[in-house]
Amino acid sequence: MSSQPLVPTDDLLDASRRLENRAPEAILAAAASRFAPRIGFATGFGPEGCVLLDMIGRHRLPIDVFTLDTGLLFPETHELWRRLESRYRLRIRAVRPALDLAGQASQLGDRLWERDPDRCCGIRKVEPLHAELAGLDAWVTAIRRDQTRDRAAAQVLERDARFGLVKVNPLVAWTSALVWDYVRRHDVPVSPLHSLGYPSVGCRPCTSPVRPGEDPRAGRWRGREKTECGLHARGPMPTLAQGLRPKERTE
Ligand code: SF4
Repeated sequence: MSSQPLVPTDDLLDASRRLENRAPEAILAAAASRFAPRIGFATGFGPEGCVLLDMIGRHRLPIDVFTLDTGLLFPETHELWRRLESRYRLRIRAVRPALDLAGQASQLGDRLWERDPDRCCGIRKVEPLHAELAGLDAWVTAIRRDQTRDRAAAQVLERDARFGLVKVNPLVAWTSALVWDYVRRHDVPVSPLHSLGYPSVGCRPCTSPVRPGEDPRAGRWRGREKTECGLHARGPMPTLAQGLRPKERTE
């Protein structure tokens, strides 16, 4: 990755300020026009991600869409994945870790997520994303400022020091209510798990339902201090495990 930023930091800050009050579609279009074809969107199929897919699909924006397929997604997530591809006539590529689940169990023991979820997320999410982003100049995310403490300082456009490219956050100023209003108005497909008590859906072993009054992300890594996979953390990139390179993307 180049140590020379593609866009000077001052220019990025100016552009971000200009886009702060623009609609997410306008932010996506501006980012696509500046960075295509070296721009990707990593979706985890949350309602925010589905909203961005709707915008990308309806406006036929030239943004490559992919998802981190950890091998531990809910069947409902796979169904939603296929539904979104069909609805918007676009391909959502699977990006997979170097180690399949059997390989992870044989090298690091069974159910690593119970003993060391940071390492598990590192292998199954952070490293594959790192390799994928190495070929891009910008990536789009579906984060909102009010989701977690780590995300509160996010800007519309920012330099992602961890992955070494520009990060585009079109929904950063939106609330959950705005997201759900958009879902209803545009009839956007979303996970059926949301209406079963799962406001935030990740991997099966690390996602549990949320009780009334709890934080919407309380069901992620329940009982642990961990609140993020590491994809949106602001600290330096943890050392990547040697020899763990993502598989060829076949889907
Ligand atoms: Fe592993 Fe859980 Fe992270 Fe999924 S969310 S990669 S199962 S620790």
